[in-house]
Amino acid sequence: MPQAVGKELIETAENVFREYCRDRGLKYTAERRDIVRAAMQMEEHFEAEQLLLIMRQTANRVGKATVYRTLKLLVECGIVKEVHFSNKQVHYEHTYGQDPHDHMVCRRCGRIIEFSAADVVKLRNLIAADHRFHALSHRFQILGLCETCVKTCPVGVRARLITRKTPASTRRGK
Ligand SMILES: [Zn+2]
Ligand SMILES: [Zn+2]
Repeated sequence: MPQAVGKELIETAENVFREYCRDRGLKYTAERRDIVRAAMQMEEHFEAEQLLLIMRQTANRVGKATVYRTLKLLVECGIVKEVHFSNKQVHYEHTYGQDPHDHMVCRRCGRIIEFSAADVVKLRNLIAADHRFHALSHRFQILGLCETCVKTCPVGVRARLITRKTPASTRRGK
């Protein structure tokens, strides 16, 4: 999960984002600052709507369109990453200042397990180099059954899961 981060890292992320906005001639408004701050404080994978809800609960007056637009900018500048657990809503997580990780998603219960992306990065770079390609990022996800589901999932259900496109849910449980 996006880990709980210290005040210092949040401030650094704010500075990075401010510079990013300035370089692109975009105004670094108080709203934008509140959004980067709130995103950095999330300790789960989140949807744009969830971020909006949490911000409103803490009395931040922020527009829905601004949240969506700012999240896009945060992804572009590398503070936040988009994650696709299913064919449903896109999720986000802040990855700034953290070691890269990828995800495994249980197709039965939706559990999400994170693991270090170090080996994937090595392999990705090797494959890219073979094609004289310079890799900047990657999308890698393992779909399957978690420890609990592998014990309890009947064989017939398992067969159906192979062809199903969307996991039951995207809730996590570590
Ligand atoms: Zn994650
Ligand atoms: Zn499971």
